[in-house]
Amino acid sequence: MNYSHFYNDYIHAVYATPAAKDSLAACRVTERLPGVPFSIVASKDDIPEKHKNQKTVFLTATPGKKFGPCPGSKRHLCCNYLTINLYEGCPIGCSYCIMQAYLNFEPVTVNVDIEAITKELDEVIQSNPDTPIRIGTGETGDSLFYDPLFELSKNFIEHCAQFPNVYFEVKTKSHFVDHLLGIPNKGKAVVAFSLNPQEIIDAEEGIASSLAQRLEAADKAVKAGYLLAFHFDPIIRVKNWQEMYLNVADQLSQFEKGKIVWISLGTVRYPAQLKDRLGSRPWLYDEFVPCRDGKHRYIQRIRTEIYRSVAGWLTESTGAPLYMCMESPAVWRRVFGKISSKIDNLCAIFTKVHR
Ligand code: SF4
Repeated sequence: MNYSHFYNDYIHAVYATPAAKDSLAACRVTERLPGVPFSIVASKDDIPEKHKNQKTVFLTATPGKKFGPCPGSKRHLCCNYLTINLYEGCPIGCSYCIMQAYLNFEPVTVNVDIEAITKELDEVIQSNPDTPIRIGTGETGDSLFYDPLFELSKNFIEHCAQFPNVYFEVKTKSHFVDHLLGIPNKGKAVVAFSLNPQEIIDAEEGIASSLAQRLEAADKAVKAGYLLAFHFDPIIRVKNWQEMYLNVADQLSQFEKGKIVWISLGTVRYPAQLKDRLGSRPWLYDEFVPCRDGKHRYIQRIRTEIYRSVAGWLTESTGAPLYMCMESPAVWRRVFGKISSKIDNLCAIFTKVHR
């Protein structure tokens, strides 16, 4: 990958704290993007106003919790996923991204203190030697958009590979997997792609890679020895949505059964403060209701209809375990007949981890 050619468009300034300035990540960025100004600041607050935007990267090694349970959503079933805040912020620019509502004027933060995060991780792994543990970095930003530049995911893949009960997941809307293919011991590392029909990618997903590029990257990853996961989130009920999502589901039949460890589903949802950014998109005229976590969702009947259809197509094409992200117990019962803890192939991946 030609780093300076590609990343020069997305990174106009790099700032680092004194503790982060000599990290491997800082060395890589200065070496690979020689034309991009690199400055030291005591904290994020000291970045000049003109650089407080998503084209600035802020490297930090500040102590503090960078690892913990996914915040989930009030009164919705949680999948007990653990998250590492490795990249906080994202330049891809999806219209529906909750972060667009509050992180737009923030530099993208990269937490380079891998050793400290790994220590926190090990404490949890050691307290749960027999529990399947799912850990991922795709909650606060795209796991792989900047990763060819900083190469931080490699550390976690290699580290987690020694624990047979740990699934380490990178989640992306890019196709940037080449730098991960040659890692010799991958353990149960999972390369996950968020998917949508190409028409929705074009309309809503900013500079994300195309569907074909993501599927091609998934093929490379699985051939290199990774497990795969897919996330259909958000599913948007646009005109002809059935045809479009059926087509994407069909394309997943190309992957060997058993290599896809999970697929998540989530219909589009938005907090009130994102509404203005979404403007007058035709799909917003559908029937949305405010839910108990403050987000607007399609009414239950519509959500149920969408989930039943998409889950049916995906079960047919992949046979993979499916779950819904941030959904109410009532919708779980309507779609799957029971809640996650009563579904055999989900019990394992939804097990609560002791901390
Ligand atoms: S790729 Fe993910 S984190 Fe980035 S803008 Fe889109 S939804 Fe947000």
